[in-house]
Amino acid sequence: MCLEVATMASSVCLEIISTSSSSTEESEMQFLISPRVIESGKIEKNTAKKTNCNCELVDYDSLPEFLKHNEFILNHYRSEWPLKQTILSIFSIHNETLNIWTHLIGFFIFLILTYHASTLFPTSQNRSGNSSNSLSASTSDTFVSRWPFYLYLAGAMFCLLSSCACHLLSCHSSFTCYLTLRFDYAGISILIVSSFYPLVYYCFACLPFYRNLYLYTITLFGITTIVASLLPVFETAKFRAARAVLFACMAASGLVPIVHKMVAFGDKKEAVVSTVYEVVMGLCYGVGVVVYGARVPERWMPGKFDIAGHSHQFFHVLVVAGAYMHYLASLMYLQWRETEGC
Ligand SMILES: [Zn+2]
Repeated sequence: MCLEVATMASSVCLEIISTSSSSTEESEMQFLISPRVIESGKIEKNTAKKTNCNCELVDYDSLPEFLKHNEFILNHYRSEWPLKQTILSIFSIHNETLNIWTHLIGFFIFLILTYHASTLFPTSQNRSGNSSNSLSASTSDTFVSRWPFYLYLAGAMFCLLSSCACHLLSCHSSFTCYLTLRFDYAGISILIVSSFYPLVYYCFACLPFYRNLYLYTITLFGITTIVASLLPVFETAKFRAARAVLFACMAASGLVPIVHKMVAFGDKKEAVVSTVYEVVMGLCYGVGVVVYGARVPERWMPGKFDIAGHSHQFFHVLVVAGAYMHYLASLMYLQWRETEGC
């Protein structure tokens, strides 16, 4: 039975359904998006439509081991739902909703940035010069390769999308959890490695020995990390610290070319301003990792931040902010090389 609810002070496009307050139905009501109202006018949160599956949100203690990651988030978990319902849950409210959307929106932001950059720096020009697929240095009268810049944008988008898929699908089964986590790790590695390319390629375009040294080293590092993360043992608690150290070392190794850049080109405005962007990027990533590791604020008030405000959501936002800072730095590197050549 449907009723108009315009007279209700707190109504927000609410649909009224005929329902009962039995515990079975209450539990089934945790699936769909829109708040619904029962005849008495009481607003039910996390309401659900009857489905063939047992698609209810559960508490932490009801989870299988492979879904137990944060004991300070107590409720609103999806657990081993059918694939279709798992995919559709992108539009419903649960404790992963904001984790999914923070990186999905980040992905679209980078898609727009890529389009914007392509209007500033077309990928082809009617200028003589080297192949854009070469590691050889460009000079001012030749075409400056764009691929390192676009490689970074592609790496950032891959990372954001794989993270989004991981948060959406990992609850479906232990297999999807294992698979999407591998993509998530690969995405982090690819973001870190691809971040080096515009920095190193453009800053050291005229110092090919260092340019190639840095690029080959970080690429090898990244491939090793991705291969290591494919091993099941990498996922075990015993290797959790090793995993974090590996990613942290890979990211921290970016300090070497940045310091080298300042030593070699510290008198140039582009080098200084881009370093400021890189420092802000480092702060975003650093604070994000600390918040993620400390699991605050949910540690202080378990259960209060299940839906919104838990550490992983802050971590995601800071990752997007850090990646955007590196985008600004990369634009500057490309402009610098475009203007000056070697
Ligand atoms: Zn995440």
